[in-house]
Amino acid sequence: MSNRHSNRGPFALFIILAVPIMATVRCATAGAQVAATATMTQSSGLTVTYIAHCGFLFSSGGQKILTDALIEPSKEWPYTAPSPDLLKKIERGEPPFDHINVVLISHAHVDHFSPASSVRFLLNNPRTVLVTTPEVRWFMEHDSPDFRNIESQEFKKIQSQVVVPDLDWKQSTTLEVNGIKLEIARLKHGDDGQWRSIVYAALFELGGKKVLFAPATLGYFPEEYTALGYAKRGIDLAFLNFNLTIQPGPGWSGAALNTAGIQTVRNLIAPKVMVLMHVEEPAKASVEKLLPEVEKQLPGTIWFQHELESRTF
Ligand SMILES: [Zn+2]
Ligand SMILES: [Zn+2]
Repeated sequence: MSNRHSNRGPFALFIILAVPIMATVRCATAGAQVAATATMTQSSGLTVTYIAHCGFLFSSGGQKILTDALIEPSKEWPYTAPSPDLLKKIERGEPPFDHINVVLISHAHVDHFSPASSVRFLLNNPRTVLVTTPEVRWFMEHDSPDFRNIESQEFKKIQSQVVVPDLDWKQSTTLEVNGIKLEIARLKHGDDGQWRSIVYAALFELGGKKVLFAPATLGYFPEEYTALGYAKRGIDLAFLNFNLTIQPGPGWSGAALNTAGIQTVRNLIAPKVMVLMHVEEPAKASVEKLLPEVEKQLPGTIWFQHELESRTF
Protein backbone atom coordinates (compact mmCIF):
# COMPACT_ATOMS: atom_id res chain seq x y z
CA MET A 1 0.00 0.00 0.00
CA SER A 2 2.76 2.43 0.90
CA ASN A 3 4.66 1.75 -2.32
CA ARG A 4 1.50 2.11 -4.31
CA HIS A 5 0.87 5.51 -2.85
CA SER A 6 4.40 6.85 -3.06
CA ASN A 7 5.24 7.71 -6.61
CA ARG A 8 8.93 8.38 -6.23
CA GLY A 9 10.33 5.95 -3.65
CA PRO A 10 12.33 6.49 -0.49
CA PHE A 11 15.35 8.16 -2.11
CA ALA A 12 13.27 10.84 -3.75
CA LEU A 13 11.39 11.32 -0.51
CA PHE A 14 14.67 11.93 1.29
CA ILE A 15 15.58 14.54 -1.26
CA ILE A 16 12.31 16.40 -1.09
CA LEU A 17 12.44 16.53 2.68
CA ALA A 18 15.83 18.17 2.38
CA VAL A 19 14.59 20.88 0.04
CA PRO A 20 14.28 24.23 1.79
CA ILE A 21 10.69 25.39 1.96
CA MET A 22 10.13 28.58 0.01
CA ALA A 23 7.92 31.20 1.55
CA THR A 24 6.36 33.14 -1.29
CA VAL A 25 3.13 34.46 0.19
CA ARG A 26 2.22 36.77 2.97
CA CYS A 27 0.54 35.43 6.09
CA ALA A 28 -2.73 36.80 7.41
CA THR A 29 -5.30 35.91 10.01
CA ALA A 30 -7.11 32.85 8.74
CA GLY A 31 -10.52 33.44 7.24
CA ALA A 32 -10.84 37.09 8.17
CA GLN A 33 -11.34 38.41 4.65
CA VAL A 34 -13.27 35.65 2.95
CA ALA A 35 -16.80 37.08 3.23
CA ALA A 36 -16.30 39.79 0.59
CA THR A 37 -15.82 37.25 -2.21
CA ALA A 38 -19.14 35.58 -1.41
CA THR A 39 -21.06 38.82 -1.73
CA MET A 40 -19.52 39.58 -5.11
CA THR A 41 -20.28 36.23 -6.70
CA GLN A 42 -23.43 35.13 -4.88
CA SER A 43 -25.80 35.71 -7.79
CA SER A 44 -24.18 33.29 -10.22
CA GLY A 45 -24.08 30.18 -8.03
CA LEU A 46 -21.25 27.66 -7.96
CA THR A 47 -20.86 25.09 -10.74
CA VAL A 48 -18.80 22.01 -9.94
CA THR A 49 -17.59 19.82 -12.81
CA TYR A 50 -16.07 16.43 -12.03
CA ILE A 51 -12.93 15.45 -13.92
CA ALA A 52 -11.53 12.36 -12.17
CA HIS A 53 -10.56 11.08 -8.70
CA CYS A 54 -10.04 14.40 -6.82
CA GLY A 55 -10.06 16.50 -9.98
CA PHE A 56 -12.75 19.18 -10.19
CA LEU A 57 -13.39 22.48 -11.92
CA PHE A 58 -15.14 25.02 -9.68
CA SER A 59 -16.58 27.97 -11.57
CA SER A 60 -18.73 31.00 -10.92
CA GLY A 61 -19.16 34.28 -12.78
CA GLY A 62 -15.93 33.91 -14.76
CA GLN A 63 -13.85 32.83 -11.77
CA LYS A 64 -12.43 29.32 -11.98
CA ILE A 65 -10.47 27.00 -9.72
CA LEU A 66 -9.05 23.65 -10.88
CA THR A 67 -8.13 21.05 -8.24
CA ASP A 68 -5.91 17.93 -8.49
CA ALA A 69 -6.94 17.36 -12.11
CA LEU A 70 -3.57 17.32 -13.88
CA ILE A 71 -2.98 13.59 -13.45
CA GLU A 72 -2.16 10.65 -15.69
CA PRO A 73 -3.11 6.97 -15.31
CA SER A 74 -0.92 4.57 -13.35
CA LYS A 75 -0.33 0.90 -14.19
CA GLU A 76 0.14 0.05 -10.53
CA TRP A 77 -2.74 1.86 -8.94
CA PRO A 78 -6.35 1.79 -10.15
CA TYR A 79 -7.43 5.37 -9.53
CA THR A 80 -9.53 7.14 -12.15
CA ALA A 81 -7.63 9.57 -14.38
CA PRO A 82 -9.06 11.96 -16.98
CA SER A 83 -9.37 10.53 -20.49
CA PRO A 84 -6.38 11.53 -22.68
CA ASP A 85 -8.53 13.91 -24.76
CA LEU A 86 -9.87 15.64 -21.68
CA LEU A 87 -6.41 16.04 -20.16
CA LYS A 88 -5.17 17.63 -23.41
CA LYS A 89 -8.14 19.97 -23.43
CA ILE A 90 -7.43 21.04 -19.85
CA GLU A 91 -3.70 21.51 -20.49
CA ARG A 92 -4.42 23.64 -23.58
CA GLY A 93 -6.90 25.79 -21.68
CA GLU A 94 -9.79 25.01 -24.04
CA PRO A 95 -13.29 25.94 -22.80
CA PRO A 96 -14.55 25.40 -20.17
CA PHE A 97 -10.96 25.19 -18.92
CA ASP A 98 -9.97 28.59 -20.29
CA HIS A 99 -9.05 31.53 -18.06
CA ILE A 100 -8.59 29.42 -14.93
CA ASN A 101 -7.63 31.76 -12.09
CA VAL A 102 -6.13 29.22 -9.71
CA VAL A 103 -4.93 25.64 -9.85
CA LEU A 104 -4.71 23.88 -6.48
CA ILE A 105 -2.58 20.76 -6.10
CA SER A 106 -2.99 19.19 -2.67
CA HIS A 107 0.14 17.03 -2.55
CA ALA A 108 2.87 15.33 -4.53
CA HIS A 109 1.34 11.86 -4.98
CA VAL A 110 0.82 10.49 -8.46
CA ASP A 111 -2.98 10.33 -8.16
CA HIS A 112 -3.12 14.08 -7.48
CA PHE A 113 -0.33 15.48 -9.58
CA SER A 114 1.70 14.83 -12.72
CA PRO A 115 4.79 17.06 -12.84
CA ALA A 116 4.89 17.03 -16.65
CA SER A 117 1.18 17.78 -17.06
CA SER A 118 1.37 20.60 -14.52
CA VAL A 119 4.35 22.22 -16.28
CA ARG A 120 2.61 21.88 -19.67
CA PHE A 121 -0.54 23.45 -18.24
CA LEU A 122 1.30 26.48 -16.85
CA LEU A 123 3.30 26.99 -20.08
CA ASN A 124 0.00 27.08 -22.03
CA ASN A 125 -1.84 29.22 -19.47
CA PRO A 126 0.54 31.99 -18.42
CA ARG A 127 -2.03 33.89 -16.39
CA THR A 128 -3.01 30.97 -14.17
CA VAL A 129 -1.41 30.68 -10.73
CA LEU A 130 -0.68 27.30 -9.13
CA VAL A 131 -0.93 27.12 -5.33
CA THR A 132 0.70 24.03 -3.93
CA THR A 133 3.17 22.41 -1.53
CA PRO A 134 7.00 22.63 -1.53
CA GLU A 135 7.18 18.97 -2.57
CA VAL A 136 5.01 19.51 -5.65
CA ARG A 137 7.11 22.49 -6.65
CA TRP A 138 10.28 20.44 -6.26
CA PHE A 139 9.01 17.67 -8.52
CA MET A 140 7.92 20.18 -11.15
CA GLU A 141 11.41 21.60 -11.23
CA HIS A 142 13.36 18.33 -11.09
CA ASP A 143 11.19 15.48 -12.25
CA SER A 144 9.01 16.45 -15.18
CA PRO A 145 9.67 13.44 -17.43
CA ASP A 146 8.72 15.17 -20.68
CA PHE A 147 11.23 17.88 -19.98
CA ARG A 148 14.00 15.73 -18.56
CA ASN A 149 16.77 17.23 -20.68
CA ILE A 150 15.66 20.82 -20.59
CA GLU A 151 13.74 20.72 -17.33
CA SER A 152 15.26 23.70 -15.58
CA GLN A 153 14.72 25.90 -18.65
CA GLU A 154 11.05 24.95 -18.88
CA PHE A 155 10.52 25.38 -15.14
CA LYS A 156 12.14 28.83 -15.22
CA LYS A 157 9.45 29.97 -17.65
CA ILE A 158 6.64 29.11 -15.25
CA GLN A 159 8.17 29.39 -11.78
CA SER A 160 6.67 32.84 -11.18
CA GLN A 161 3.22 31.25 -11.58
CA VAL A 162 3.85 28.84 -8.68
CA VAL A 163 2.91 30.01 -5.17
CA VAL A 164 4.07 27.87 -2.25
CA PRO A 165 2.92 28.92 1.21
CA ASP A 166 5.27 27.99 4.05
CA LEU A 167 3.15 26.21 6.65
CA ASP A 168 3.60 23.95 9.63
CA TRP A 169 1.06 21.26 10.50
CA LYS A 170 -2.34 22.76 11.52
CA GLN A 171 -1.21 26.19 10.39
CA SER A 172 -3.14 28.18 7.80
CA THR A 173 -2.64 31.30 5.75
CA THR A 174 -5.00 33.49 3.75
CA LEU A 175 -3.93 34.73 0.35
CA GLU A 176 -5.56 36.38 -2.62
CA VAL A 177 -4.65 34.92 -5.99
CA ASN A 178 -5.98 36.33 -9.28
CA GLY A 179 -8.94 37.87 -7.43
CA ILE A 180 -9.83 34.74 -5.43
CA LYS A 181 -9.31 34.53 -1.67
CA LEU A 182 -7.98 31.21 -0.43
CA GLU A 183 -7.28 29.88 3.02
CA ILE A 184 -4.61 27.23 2.68
CA ALA A 185 -3.98 24.87 5.61
CA ARG A 186 -1.43 22.13 6.14
CA LEU A 187 -2.86 18.77 7.18
CA LYS A 188 -1.39 15.32 7.69
CA HIS A 189 -1.63 12.55 5.14
CA GLY A 190 -2.75 9.10 6.30
CA ASP A 191 -1.63 7.83 9.67
CA ASP A 192 1.87 9.34 9.84
CA GLY A 193 3.44 5.90 9.32
CA GLN A 194 2.69 5.47 5.62
CA TRP A 195 2.28 7.77 2.64
CA ARG A 196 4.16 10.68 4.17
CA SER A 197 3.55 13.80 2.19
CA ILE A 198 2.86 17.45 2.92
CA VAL A 199 -0.85 18.01 2.24
CA TYR A 200 -2.42 21.43 1.72
CA ALA A 201 -6.19 21.82 2.00
CA ALA A 202 -8.01 24.86 0.64
CA LEU A 203 -11.02 26.75 1.96
CA PHE A 204 -12.54 29.24 -0.47
CA GLU A 205 -15.77 30.98 -1.38
CA LEU A 206 -17.09 30.96 -4.90
CA GLY A 207 -20.61 31.67 -6.10
CA GLY A 208 -21.75 32.33 -2.54
CA LYS A 209 -20.71 28.84 -1.41
CA LYS A 210 -17.99 28.07 1.09
CA VAL A 211 -15.98 25.07 -0.11
CA LEU A 212 -13.40 22.94 1.70
CA PHE A 213 -11.18 20.90 -0.62
CA ALA A 214 -9.19 18.52 1.56
CA PRO A 215 -8.09 15.27 -0.06
CA ALA A 216 -5.80 12.69 1.60
CA THR A 217 -6.72 13.66 5.13
CA LEU A 218 -8.21 10.48 6.52
CA GLY A 219 -9.32 11.42 10.01
CA TYR A 220 -6.38 9.95 11.92
CA PHE A 221 -5.71 13.34 13.48
CA PRO A 222 -9.10 14.96 14.25
CA GLU A 223 -7.30 17.66 16.22
CA GLU A 224 -6.19 19.27 12.96
CA TYR A 225 -9.81 20.04 12.03
CA THR A 226 -10.42 21.37 15.54
CA ALA A 227 -7.34 23.58 15.40
CA LEU A 228 -8.46 25.07 12.09
CA GLY A 229 -11.97 25.65 13.44
CA TYR A 230 -13.67 24.16 10.37
CA ALA A 231 -16.89 23.29 12.24
CA LYS A 232 -17.50 26.98 12.95
CA ARG A 233 -16.83 28.20 9.43
CA GLY A 234 -20.23 27.46 7.88
CA ILE A 235 -18.81 25.17 5.19
CA ASP A 236 -21.37 24.42 2.48
CA LEU A 237 -19.50 21.73 0.56
CA ALA A 238 -16.65 19.59 1.93
CA PHE A 239 -14.73 17.58 -0.65
CA LEU A 240 -13.18 14.73 1.33
CA ASN A 241 -11.82 11.22 0.79
CA PHE A 242 -14.61 8.64 0.82
CA ASN A 243 -12.56 6.66 3.38
CA LEU A 244 -13.78 9.07 6.05
CA THR A 245 -17.20 7.44 5.65
CA ILE A 246 -16.52 3.95 4.29
CA GLN A 247 -13.62 1.60 4.98
CA PRO A 248 -13.05 -0.88 2.16
CA GLY A 249 -11.75 -4.20 3.49
CA PRO A 250 -8.36 -5.76 2.69
CA GLY A 251 -7.81 -6.22 -1.03
CA TRP A 252 -10.79 -3.92 -1.61
CA SER A 253 -13.31 -6.67 -0.76
CA GLY A 254 -15.81 -6.19 2.05
CA ALA A 255 -16.60 -2.79 3.43
CA ALA A 256 -17.96 -1.13 6.53
CA LEU A 257 -19.11 2.28 7.59
CA ASN A 258 -16.33 4.31 9.18
CA THR A 259 -18.38 5.51 12.12
CA ALA A 260 -15.51 7.41 13.74
CA GLY A 261 -14.78 9.16 10.44
CA ILE A 262 -18.43 10.08 10.01
CA GLN A 263 -18.46 11.59 13.51
CA THR A 264 -15.35 13.56 12.63
CA VAL A 265 -16.97 14.95 9.49
CA ARG A 266 -20.20 15.77 11.29
CA ASN A 267 -18.72 17.33 14.43
CA LEU A 268 -15.36 18.75 13.44
CA ILE A 269 -15.97 19.87 9.84
CA ALA A 270 -19.77 20.14 9.88
CA PRO A 271 -20.40 20.75 6.18
CA LYS A 272 -23.92 21.16 4.88
CA VAL A 273 -22.99 18.59 2.22
CA MET A 274 -20.08 16.19 1.94
CA VAL A 275 -18.78 15.28 -1.50
CA LEU A 276 -17.06 11.89 -1.64
CA MET A 277 -13.91 11.73 -3.72
CA HIS A 278 -10.79 9.59 -4.15
CA VAL A 279 -12.89 6.50 -4.96
CA GLU A 280 -10.52 4.10 -6.70
CA GLU A 281 -12.03 1.71 -9.27
CA PRO A 282 -12.07 -1.38 -6.99
CA ALA A 283 -13.69 0.63 -4.17
CA LYS A 284 -16.65 1.71 -6.30
CA ALA A 285 -18.71 -1.39 -5.48
CA SER A 286 -18.30 -0.75 -1.74
CA VAL A 287 -19.29 2.88 -2.09
CA GLU A 288 -22.30 1.96 -4.23
CA LYS A 289 -23.43 -0.53 -1.58
CA LEU A 290 -22.93 1.66 1.48
CA LEU A 291 -23.83 5.09 0.12
CA PRO A 292 -27.46 4.83 1.39
CA GLU A 293 -26.09 4.18 4.89
CA VAL A 294 -23.73 7.13 4.61
CA GLU A 295 -26.62 9.32 3.47
CA LYS A 296 -28.57 8.41 6.61
CA GLN A 297 -25.65 9.68 8.69
CA LEU A 298 -24.69 12.62 6.48
CA PRO A 299 -27.81 13.65 4.55
CA GLY A 300 -27.27 14.98 1.04
CA THR A 301 -23.87 13.29 0.52
CA ILE A 302 -22.82 13.54 -3.12
CA TRP A 303 -20.67 11.19 -5.20
CA PHE A 304 -19.67 12.39 -8.67
CA GLN A 305 -18.99 9.39 -10.90
CA HIS A 306 -18.95 10.44 -14.55
CA GLU A 307 -16.33 12.49 -16.35
CA LEU A 308 -17.61 16.06 -16.88
CA GLU A 309 -20.67 15.43 -14.68
CA SER A 310 -21.66 18.88 -13.47
CA ARG A 311 -23.87 20.34 -10.73
CA THR A 312 -24.70 23.90 -9.80
CA PHE A 313 -25.19 24.84 -6.16
ZN1 LIG B 1 -1.64 10.77 -1.31
ZN1 LIG C 1 -4.52 10.09 -3.14
